Amino acid sequence: MFLVSKRILMTTSIMALMLAGCDAKDAGKNSEVVLKPAVTTGVSANPEIKILADLALNGSYGYDITRSLTTEIGPRLAGTPQEAKARRWARNKFKELGFTRIRTEPFPVKGWLRGLETAHITKPYPQRLVVTALGGSVATPKAGTKAPVAYFADYEALLAAPMGSLDGKIAYISGRMEKHRDGAGYGPANQKRRSGATEAAKRGAVAVLIRSVGTDSHRFPHTGQMRYAEDVKKIPIGALSSPDADQLDRIFAMDKDVEIKLRLNTRDLGEKISGNVMAEIRGTEKPDEIILIGAHLDSWDMGTGAVDDGAGVGIVMGAAQVLMESGLKPKRTIRVVLFGAEEVGLVGAWAYAEAHKDELAQHVLATESDFGAGKIYGIQAGKMPANKAGIAAMSAEFKYLGILPKDGDTNGGPDIIPLDAAGVPTVRLNQDGTDYFDLHHTPDDTFDKIDPKAMQQNVAAYATLIWLASESDSNFRDEK
Ligand SMILES: [Zn+2]
Repeated sequence: MFLVSKRILMTTSIMALMLAGCDAKDAGKNSEVVLKPAVTTGVSANPEIKILADLALNGSYGYDITRSLTTEIGPRLAGTPQEAKARRWARNKFKELGFTRIRTEPFPVKGWLRGLETAHITKPYPQRLVVTALGGSVATPKAGTKAPVAYFADYEALLAAPMGSLDGKIAYISGRMEKHRDGAGYGPANQKRRSGATEAAKRGAVAVLIRSVGTDSHRFPHTGQMRYAEDVKKIPIGALSSPDADQLDRIFAMDKDVEIKLRLNTRDLGEKISGNVMAEIRGTEKPDEIILIGAHLDSWDMGTGAVDDGAGVGIVMGAAQVLMESGLKPKRTIRVVLFGAEEVGLVGAWAYAEAHKDELAQHVLATESDFGAGKIYGIQAGKMPANKAGIAAMSAEFKYLGILPKDGDTNGGPDIIPLDAAGVPTVRLNQDGTDYFDLHHTPDDTFDKIDPKAMQQNVAAYATLIWLASESDSNFRDEK
């Protein structure tokens, strides 16, 4: 933590240099994220935003919060004592930073634990594979399931298989996820994770293995929530790391018969408690009008949930902290919501929308940071014309960070989906997620992967956003 006076004294030329250095570093990694000099001065001409930027770009607000959460709590699986600890951490952190109206809103969630998990090729070339259970998967028999394996190049190939063709077999679904800055490859690749077990069970399979939904080539499997259909037999499903999936692909390419022994000792824990933790900076003139910035507090269990979504927690809490420390007084209330049980199906998001349904008309604007810690390159509005106009009116104020208006509609982020559906205006600060799915839901999602410079830019962007949204004359909603 720095002293405020010191930070304010930082000259604009130093700041410009820092930003330029940041660009040069990123340029080596990914040419797509280089800021365009023509629109990026590195310094805001708006005196209030300049105060916020001086704090955010020279401090370690978000980074410190994310370090605290991922170090002092670590993994935070929904419904577990670890997630409860994270809620206590969040309340204490809000208190320490000077927030008001700190509260937890509990809700029920289905408890689930991973347990021992192994996979071995037993024929034709016996060897171990690196596997993990998908979230919510039922267990194999305790000693495991040994069965011949049917190969599918992708999810569509599985759908083309006739009913009964997988009787007594393990279905293996390969298929790679494409790498994109905005994560566009995730939706298509995720179908096998979500519905693979149901579709394979319909065709008679006893278990499923998928190539991990991810973009890395490391020997880490990617977990993630799966779903069962009500009326179809529930069979276990696991994900293989990408190199292990490659290994299987090579054996199938040799036209060999493959047999695998799979053991996933998962446990259904029945109903458990999760919760949303929230706190506010009360507005001075319109305290009933709410600007909501959120992130999710829960994580998967294998890593420490740093990019997903410890980073988001740091970014939104850090941005609100910057606003408080700046001495600027927002007219509208800034509410920071840390959602519980996002990973297992947006359970906290739906609980929030239900608990606050009488208050949603006063939610002026809502957004979530849940796409890692990469640099922000775009600002995108929700679908309503007034929402678009309100965001367009402020978008030029983000150019100093290299953030440009982005076309298309946003739903505000995963936990904002229920609010968006209820008509709450939304906005999204689009992060560069090119490498996000290298780490997503793996044991490798740890704090060392977070770039403090990119975190500073994120915190500056969110501080700019909440200040402008609080000051805006727009209510971002279409007239009824
Ligand atoms: Zn997430």
